[in-house]
Amino acid sequence: MTNTLIDSNLPVLIAGGGIGGVAAALSLARLGYNVKVLEQAPQLGEIGAGIQLGPNAFAAFDALGIGELARGRAVYTEEMVMHDALDERLVGRIPTGQAFRERFGNPYAVIHRADIHNSLLEGAQALGNIETLTGTHIERVQQDGAIVTVYDQHGRAHQGQALIGADGVKSVVRQQYVGDPARVSGHVVYRAVVEKNDFPEDLRWNAASIWVGPNYHLVHYPLRGGEQYNVVVTFHSREQEEWGVREGSREEVQSYYRDCCPRAHQLIDMPKSWKRWATADRDPIGQWSFGRATLLGDAAHPTLQYIAQGACMALEDAVTLGEALKRCNHDWPQALQLYERSRIARTARVVLSAREMGRIFHAKGVERLVRNELWKNRPPQRFYDAMEWLYGWTVKNCLAQD
Ligand SMILES: Cc1cc2nc3c(=O)[nH]c(=O)nc-3n(C[C@H](O)[C@H](O)[C@H](O)COP(=O)(O)OP(=O)(O)OC[C@H]3O[C@@H](n4cnc5c(N)ncnc54)[C@H](O)[C@@H]3O)c2cc1C
Repeated sequence: MTNTLIDSNLPVLIAGGGIGGVAAALSLARLGYNVKVLEQAPQLGEIGAGIQLGPNAFAAFDALGIGELARGRAVYTEEMVMHDALDERLVGRIPTGQAFRERFGNPYAVIHRADIHNSLLEGAQALGNIETLTGTHIERVQQDGAIVTVYDQHGRAHQGQALIGADGVKSVVRQQYVGDPARVSGHVVYRAVVEKNDFPEDLRWNAASIWVGPNYHLVHYPLRGGEQYNVVVTFHSREQEEWGVREGSREEVQSYYRDCCPRAHQLIDMPKSWKRWATADRDPIGQWSFGRATLLGDAAHPTLQYIAQGACMALEDAVTLGEALKRCNHDWPQALQLYERSRIARTARVVLSAREMGRIFHAKGVERLVRNELWKNRPPQRFYDAMEWLYGWTVKNCLAQD
């Protein structure tokens, strides 16, 4: 890389090898950078669960050169559908078939997390300029204007020309530079993947499906050509929650869904094991680049999952970072400023919209009645217009214009 300003022999360091970190590694390696991914887990990978992807994620995959790989592993859904979990009433239906794909140039899809992570990893490994160090927990960052040094749990120093903090919701990099508190939602999520034969026939819809109830909701959709189904249930906990993951119990889940209609209740009866996540987000911040270090993905803008866009934003971040470097002729501090400017308002809108959507999902009493009237008889075009800001993202419009 001849136009990198200082010490071009040093790699770019990426803290965290989740979807965001691996996408960033791919984006930077495509520009010719040597990249070193530092991951605390013993191996790179993703949890066994599904994820929804908006058309914007596929625009990002294309920009990262793995569009076809990801498309081949995803299930394209025909609709998003919402039912009231108390009385089974249809609340809203948004077709995501041909008309949707033509409008946004890409599908709405659902996919196993491991399949996205592997697609990114395969793309990255094919380039050959990415080194991965697992079992490496970053504890501290130092920079002197030209070089960034990160220290791991063994006291080892890793030097780079820049640092991308993609170390997730509990980011150490963010803690050091920003130090802001998390906002624990009090909402608990249980997730499971169920084999097709164990999944109720009358719920085998090719749709991103949600059942909304008072202080809870349930989500299901197909994975891997319909051979598996993803089940996610979310409720407002009675306990004082702390942000984190632990083993859960079927009894706990069932205690929150006593008034749920029998059809949706089947979702709770079938999984053999459940894991329990107490979720949190953070208030959006106006700065996340500091000299030669920046944040990306959940480290930069952790969000509740209610508009299914956290990973999509991490993918967009990775592409935008690469575009900013090209625009700034690989001047890192300038490029990180441009990257941040291009991402802050958009990702903040996602964080705030997700909070609001959670309120709508979990409405009760009269608010529930209002929610159930909101989308009645609304033509698809009006839904699509409302989604344009989110799903209309492309690499061409990703950089701030000012
Ligand atoms: C229930 C639920 C459903 C969701 N559904 C969707 C959806 O449908 N669509 C969507 O787009 N998004 C969804 N999301 C959000 C999505 O999962 C995240 O936004 C996305 O995975 C973030 O990726 P990331 O790489 O930024 O962070 P992470 O996936 O958290 O990766 C961070 C990585 O950094 C590593 N790490 C952490 N600290 C350190 C350290 N100090 N040193 C070294 N390594 C470290 C971790 O081990 C991890 O591998 C959902 C989230 C939840 C909770």
